Amino acid sequence: MTATLIDGKATAAQIQEEIRAEVERLKTEHGVVPGLATVLVGENPASQFYVRSKRKRCSEVGIRSFGYELPESASQEEVEGLVAELNANPEVHGILVQLPLPKHLDEERVLAAISIEKDVDGFHPVNIGRLAMKGREPMFVPCTPAGCIELLDRYGIEIEGKEAVVLGRSNIVGLPVAMLLLHRNATITICHSRTRDLAEVCRRADILIAAVGRPKMVKADWIKPGAAVIDVGINRVEDPTAKRGYRIVGDVDFEAAKEVAGYITPVPGGVGPMTIAMLLKNTLTSAKRAAGLL
Ligand code: NDP
Repeated sequence: MTATLIDGKATAAQIQEEIRAEVERLKTEHGVVPGLATVLVGENPASQFYVRSKRKRCSEVGIRSFGYELPESASQEEVEGLVAELNANPEVHGILVQLPLPKHLDEERVLAAISIEKDVDGFHPVNIGRLAMKGREPMFVPCTPAGCIELLDRYGIEIEGKEAVVLGRSNIVGLPVAMLLLHRNATITICHSRTRDLAEVCRRADILIAAVGRPKMVKADWIKPGAAVIDVGINRVEDPTAKRGYRIVGDVDFEAAKEVAGYITPVPGGVGPMTIAMLLKNTLTSAKRAAGLL
């Protein structure tokens, strides 16, 4: 079998176009311009890159972005003070504090300081709490997990009643994606570094989500024939033939796995591009709510 390729790049581009049209409509019909504030503390090059990409994608769809940069030495009070200012600013519909924060800052307190109405990253403890509870709806869902579900939906992959196995239990990917699958009535198993006989557990999955950060860990014979495989992993591996001396691979051994799976995401070009698309979508939703349109 050769799996259907789940094209995250094309799907994200399509979503971005839908958002662009909706932003335009919001502007002309209601005079509302969605706004996203990004908060970057310190000079971590990867974080700088992510914030730049997020702001660029905002401008592509007509979302206004406000960039705030604080020095590495910023105090807890300074960061929380900025968040409080942004909470009060009506032009800002979403606040994104780029993680990780420098070690001396208390990340949990900073995230909790963001107004839940503007928590477009979905990491506020109240939003995560609602996600974990039956019958409750978070204001926003974390972007990478939301991107995984959006890909399943857009490719018509049924979730209800299916066996879903999630590899990884981090706060930003594994745990929330498992909660989302549970909300959609999948039967979920969450695996982590102490799980015994990982291969055997994975073989039960109709939907397998890999978010461990280990290059090509998931082998073809871990996959149930026909399963949908969503690979969140982004891993650098040395490759002297590549221009930069490395290339990016996922957590799944893609070449072999695609012969067994029914659907599979590539890396790069799978889940990766969906994360920012979901951030834009959350910001648009927030602006509509603030304008009383939802
Ligand atoms: P973390 O390191 O926070 O979590 C990794 C998880 O995998 C942990 O729960 C860990 O278990 C588990 N794990 C690690 N090794 C093994 C193993 N050998 N067997 C079973 N489980 C294992 O990573 P993240 O969740 O932040 O990210 C996961 C991957 O997704 C990374 O490659 C990251 O780069 C990528 N990513 C991609 C994004 C995107 O596409 N936009 C966004 C965010 C992340 P334990 O809890 O026991 O330690």
